Amino acid sequence: MNTQSLSTGTAWAETGDLRALMTRAAGIRDAQWGRTVTYSRKAFVPLTNMCRDTCGYCTFVKHPDSPEANIMTPEQVLAVAQKGEREGCKELLFSLGEKPELRYEKARKGLERLGYSRLTDYLRDMCELVLTETSLLPHVNAGTLTDDEIDVLRPVSASMGMMLETVSRRLTRKGQPHYACPDKVPVQRLRTLERAGQKQVPFTTGLLIGIGETFAERIEALHAINAAHARHGHIQEVIIQNFQRKPDIEMANHPEPALEDMLRTIAAARIILAPEISLQAPPNLSARHIAYLEAGINDWGGISPVTIDFINPQHEWPEIRALARSCSGAGFELRERLTVYPRYLTGDSGFINPGVLARAAGMAQENGLARDQRHIGETA
Ligand code: SF4
Repeated sequence: MNTQSLSTGTAWAETGDLRALMTRAAGIRDAQWGRTVTYSRKAFVPLTNMCRDTCGYCTFVKHPDSPEANIMTPEQVLAVAQKGEREGCKELLFSLGEKPELRYEKARKGLERLGYSRLTDYLRDMCELVLTETSLLPHVNAGTLTDDEIDVLRPVSASMGMMLETVSRRLTRKGQPHYACPDKVPVQRLRTLERAGQKQVPFTTGLLIGIGETFAERIEALHAINAAHARHGHIQEVIIQNFQRKPDIEMANHPEPALEDMLRTIAAARIILAPEISLQAPPNLSARHIAYLEAGINDWGGISPVTIDFINPQHEWPEIRALARSCSGAGFELRERLTVYPRYLTGDSGFINPGVLARAAGMAQENGLARDQRHIGETA
């Protein structure tokens, strides 16, 4: 961390020369990550689209009254996992709404039919199913988690994640996107970050930008993530995600962040965060995503050859070979990584349950990236 950044407020990032900021960030990236940019080839499983929260930008969630509100069955989960496996995926990412059974009868009844009273327990068993029936590594993205929930999920997952999104309490007020969203109160999300660190879970988090937060609040969030990592060493990657307008959301008329805003935030993140934290931005949410490389990213996150982006369904994943060509044109090699970053794959890291660690280590080449670089074979 550059202490000068802290002592001079946020003007250095918010209004300083953008090109100079990006050059500085890209230099930090080059020194740590070189000219390799990674992605994780994965299948996405939206285990349930019911959620007790109602974020103003969310198109994923369905109210229980909607016929589309559902909980996937084990057969459906397995079908997606097996399809992903056939297409060379290494990761199965579970994404789900937060604790819908605490609010909605339909969620409780749906879980009961499956033989469960708590979504976390069902999720645990679906992770186990994936481990037993396929070669994939489960990654769990289940929002805020208690100590007990982490204990339940840790033995059956390779890594976990939760977008911090923002530390702005202002955005929980009436009329704001996180109003009446108990899991979006910043302190709850910061507690989950902290718990994941205490329990040594390789963890993915990030910022959602353009939902009404100030630039200073973004910087504050980045410092909070970095501080948690300094205490526990568990933050494997930080995502900088840009808000996307959709016709069916409360924020349908809210402006999307401009490319320059993304570049500034990415560069600031690269400068603030410890260099070993991977920096990621999604390639499907901006036509000009290759510019993110100039601002310091080293990763594109998950890309699926089998499932859509359920959070931004109107934005297709890039075709992986086409992305590889674009990266190459910008001076970078695209390489496939696992859901777990290389530094957590050593036996003495203490970060992953031994059984899952053995599987992950067996899927990695010497440098910790995926042994089977499927897109390269496809290009050939
Ligand atoms: S963004 Fe996440 S927490 Fe918010 S409503 Fe959608 S699924 Fe729930």
